[in-house]
Amino acid sequence: MATRGTWLLADVLIRDGQLAAVAPNLRPDPGCEVLDAHDALVLPGFVQVHVHVVQSLARHRAEGLPLLRWLAERIWPYEAALRPEEVAAASRLGIAELLTGGTTSALDMGTTHDQDAVFSAAAELGIRFTSGKCHMDTGQGVPASLLEDCDASLAEAEALGSRWHGAASGRLRYAAAPRFVLSCSADLLAGAVALARSHGYLLHTHSSENLKETQAVRELTGRGNAAFLADLGIAGPDTVLAHCVHLDDGEVRLLSEKQTGVAHCPGANLKLGSGIADVPRLLAHGVRVGLGADGPPGNNRLSIFHEMALAGTLHNLGHEPDAVDGWTVLEMATWRGAQVLGLGEDVGRLVPGWKADLVVLSCDPLAMVPAADPAVMVVYGGGVESVRHVVVDGSVVVRDGELTTADAAAIRREARAAAQAVTQRLGWS
Ligand SMILES: [Zn+2]
Repeated sequence: MATRGTWLLADVLIRDGQLAAVAPNLRPDPGCEVLDAHDALVLPGFVQVHVHVVQSLARHRAEGLPLLRWLAERIWPYEAALRPEEVAAASRLGIAELLTGGTTSALDMGTTHDQDAVFSAAAELGIRFTSGKCHMDTGQGVPASLLEDCDASLAEAEALGSRWHGAASGRLRYAAAPRFVLSCSADLLAGAVALARSHGYLLHTHSSENLKETQAVRELTGRGNAAFLADLGIAGPDTVLAHCVHLDDGEVRLLSEKQTGVAHCPGANLKLGSGIADVPRLLAHGVRVGLGADGPPGNNRLSIFHEMALAGTLHNLGHEPDAVDGWTVLEMATWRGAQVLGLGEDVGRLVPGWKADLVVLSCDPLAMVPAADPAVMVVYGGGVESVRHVVVDGSVVVRDGELTTADAAAIRREARAAAQAVTQRLGWS
């Protein structure tokens, strides 16, 4: 069993949004709030490197379909039907689920229209959040209202970036987010690269998720999906490719050489029958890999614990039973994920001087008993029921399991009403 993690019996002192000290028997500052961490583990906040919070109202409503039909028959019509207040309700639901599940940082693929509402929800609820409008200007089965003029789409992204990149004391960042090769012209992809590089935004897209998609990209471009993206400049430490299930050897080397980030989304890959990304092979080549739940309709939850348990077990098929051990999984859910998001300088570890993003996990849930190696406990026995407190940027956003930054009951109520409205318009019975 790997024992490379460090853990100790200690207090954590937070001051001005940063971790001021991690040591035993710290004396609290006068008047400061003390969070109860008895019988608990204090960990860096979890990082998810690929989600779609705007899809939250379609949760449980896109079942039993492979990727390209899932997109064309359910997800794109749903996204096309959303009104601004529904984008807000979906985003608040998704972000509330992320925070109460211990996720403090996320990279999100946003919506084609009304992306301001996604950022507003992230600003309000207190998550560290990177997102960007989802670009599409071509593709089979894409509703007309989601197909945008290339230049106009990029111009809107630039305006959104100027409003939101660095907002909320730096918690919010913009990412250029062309959806995937099959829904983006080469001009749009190249324009997204230029936009991202000129402003220092992340580049975020999907690649090589499903075999049919990967074959269609090869027919269209004569290249493997990740290789084609790299040809256009969608590669490097500022790039996150979601999925990377179907890669050839050259593409694995390319990801490693360019230090491109990969979002491993085992829950969604299993749900849509897309395949199993060969994470042991990626890690052996030094590829940067983080975890993501992807969208609620393709998972159907945004729980990092679900992804961790899958990442820690799935790869035993075809590899040795310790192929991706508990510590490696926990790292992917924390500092490795932060690295993928370009946050690795001060997010993802409990180090004095770093951002105060942390989660307090109760050891009371029965699956956390008895105490043992903390990575093994968390990855294989942990669940959202363990999440006691969550701190982002020094602010307590979840206390005793309850969201502090918004009324969770109102979020639930509004999400139910919005989901009913949008699914009625779609004619989903
Ligand atoms: Zn996705």
